[in-house]
Amino acid sequence: MERTTVAVVGGGPAGMVLGLLLARAGVEVTVLEKHGDFLRDFRGDTVHASTLTLLDELGLGPSFAEVPHQLVERMQVLLDSGPQTVADLTRLPGAHKHIAFVPQWDFLDLLADAGKREKAFALRMNTEVTGVVRQHGKVTGVRYRDADGERELAADLVIAADGRGSRVRAEAGLPIRSFGAPMDVWWFRLPRHEGEPTGGLGRFGRGSGVVLLPRGDYFQVAYLIRKGSDAELRAEGVAAFRKRISDLVPWLAERLETVAELEDVKLLDVKLDRLRRWHDDGVLCVGDAAHAMSPIGGVGINLAVQDAVAAARILAAPLRRGAVTPAELAKVRRRRWFPTAVTQGIQRLVQDRFLRPTLAGAAGPAKAPAPIRLLQRVPLLQVVPAYLVAIGLLPEHAPAFARRAPERIERGD
Ligand SMILES: Cc1cc2nc3c(=O)[nH]c(=O)nc-3n(C[C@H](O)[C@H](O)[C@H](O)COP(=O)(O)OP(=O)(O)OC[C@H]3O[C@@H](n4cnc5c(N)ncnc54)[C@H](O)[C@@H]3O)c2cc1C
Repeated sequence: MERTTVAVVGGGPAGMVLGLLLARAGVEVTVLEKHGDFLRDFRGDTVHASTLTLLDELGLGPSFAEVPHQLVERMQVLLDSGPQTVADLTRLPGAHKHIAFVPQWDFLDLLADAGKREKAFALRMNTEVTGVVRQHGKVTGVRYRDADGERELAADLVIAADGRGSRVRAEAGLPIRSFGAPMDVWWFRLPRHEGEPTGGLGRFGRGSGVVLLPRGDYFQVAYLIRKGSDAELRAEGVAAFRKRISDLVPWLAERLETVAELEDVKLLDVKLDRLRRWHDDGVLCVGDAAHAMSPIGGVGINLAVQDAVAAARILAAPLRRGAVTPAELAKVRRRRWFPTAVTQGIQRLVQDRFLRPTLAGAAGPAKAPAPIRLLQRVPLLQVVPAYLVAIGLLPEHAPAFARRAPERIERGD
């Protein structure tokens, strides 16, 4: 049977950062990703200030600067009562007083390239994990399927970074706490013209919400629908769909014709949950696999990256010694529980107090909600949401073993 030290399941933000950091610590790591490339649509496009700082610490700042991206310094929501600035990032501490918007595949490609420079790093694309292997109750590897068929990979540790539908966490049977979510998302593209907004833009009105993410010559559009209403809305047809969106954002009306049929509109299932325990003997969950994040605030990528950094720092030495115990694995959750629980608490508050009534069409925000009014009256306070979104609680920094000078990366040593 093939063998590695750490099998990381999933090449999303959590899996790729963890793979890179462990490889830089000299731990043999194999990342298994079910897709053949990173060109998929169903992720966010944000690289947060704390991740930009991490990239600098890893020596990847100059490579990131070459990837086309847009920097956003303020976040706005558009309510019936008008535009409201809710976060001012220019007051943040540190070198990065912004969030970068970059198609996530470019960000993941950058991490994959950095990983490939490490001898201990292997990335297997088109490789879907189908289950875990157990011996005497302990997880000792994974079963996977690739072009050559079904095989097994033995590992000292399996790390589940396979997102909100994690197969590994389901197989590990870890206890889960689900918080529910009032919405799902319809996900589609619309043309974007020169000079149009470069930052994320949210528009919420009676009964619905639209978020526009600029990606070069098109907007990736997230249209919020009531959870479970997909079939009912699809039955109403494409004309009704176009009308609902143009009622909310009239300047999009003409280009909605480019959505020829509702098959062009994908349904994204939104979840908000958290494992009570993130590990079992031989297996650890991180990122959305440990705590599925709602899109609210666009913070899930940051939390996934921070989990990965914490896990690498805590586990690198025990992995090198070949002595990872359940007690070591438990430290990862202990370190990351506070930022995760507080952030999810805020997402629950926003979804229950604001989104649920908005989507029910019951309480159209003719007047902005009180916290948003407060942020307009005392703009200094806009640094608080800016910090929570762009940096997050307990930000993690690259451990010494993972730091590199950019010149060293350019030279390829
Ligand atoms: C509609 C929507 C919009 C969002 N927008 C934002 C945003 O703008 N900003 C933000 O910060 N967060 C956003 N989020 C949240 C964010 O997407 C997640 O929190 C984040 O992607 C979690 O990262 P991850 O690495 O843990 O998992 P993922 O990004 O989900 O990555 C998991 C990876 O595992 C792979 N995989 C899955 N199963 C297997 C398997 N069996 N074998 C091998 N590979 C497998 C997948 O292909 C994927 O590459 C959004 C969420 C949704 C639903």
